[in-house]
Amino acid sequence: MTKECAALYVVPTPLGNLADLTRRAEEILSSVPWVAAEDTRHSGTLLKSIGAAARLLPAHRHNEQAAAARIIERLQAGEAVALITDAGTPGVSDPGARIVAAVRAAACRVVPLPGPCAAVTALSAAGLVDEHFLFYGFLPAKAGQRRQVIEDLRGQSAALVFYEAPHRVLETVADLAAILGERTLVIARELTKLFESIHSCPLGAALDWLQADPDRQRGEFVLLVSGAPEQSDAAEGERVLQLLLADGLPVKQAAKLAAAITGMAKNALYDRALALKS
Ligand code: SAM
Repeated sequence: MTKECAALYVVPTPLGNLADLTRRAEEILSSVPWVAAEDTRHSGTLLKSIGAAARLLPAHRHNEQAAAARIIERLQAGEAVALITDAGTPGVSDPGARIVAAVRAAACRVVPLPGPCAAVTALSAAGLVDEHFLFYGFLPAKAGQRRQVIEDLRGQSAALVFYEAPHRVLETVADLAAILGERTLVIARELTKLFESIHSCPLGAALDWLQADPDRQRGEFVLLVSGAPEQSDAAEGERVLQLLLADGLPVKQAAKLAAAITGMAKNALYDRALALKS
């Protein structure tokens, strides 16, 4: 008879404040025989601080498949494994998803624990009133690719949530301001740590604010941008008319096409086109 698989526990760890390790996380980390960790040295310190005696398995971005195979071996031998990363929730801009997929494919149980995550922590204090949010994580490091991604996100009505490193925060904020226009930006820095700061401002004023004090550019960042403002019908009609008129279409034809594109009344568009033309 084959032994039943033990469970893989996905365990979020503190973003900076050790007191944010949940009781359940502490219980699991203290009771499992194995902990798979992104950086075994870094996590060794956390485990030591709670008196956990688990053995460590390396599970980082560059060995996820091999780590998954080792983890499944342990689980199939009936030994539970906890998966952790350096900070926050595994699989959120962190390794973990491939391991979880492989463990599930091997028909072993995956047990998620709720806990610290920088994106959710920042959102909870950002005060952005958009109904939805879109978590993007890290934008590409290369300027051209980064600008293209931001351009692709421009029409999103959901608030946008990015992770950013201190050495790229100025260029990223400059690109967000240039491409997204007037929105609210919330800069959440060093969450749960001594120098935690959460600053909201118009996106266009953010670069000056960051540059006014080098300390504002230090540490770990979550950048949150309010969603694209709803285009009012009138603004949308005007935008379409302007494009058609700029293309040289006569007023009557521009109004007809704009009505077909936007579903707005042709007469109103005709009047507006005449006004724009003059
Ligand atoms: N898995 C983690 C989570 O659940 O949030 C994220 C890991 S990702 C490699 C690290 C990034 O998360 C940092 O570059 C930063 O953007 C964000 N981050 C992590 N800790 C943070 C903190 N204390 N304050 C602000 N942002 C933080």
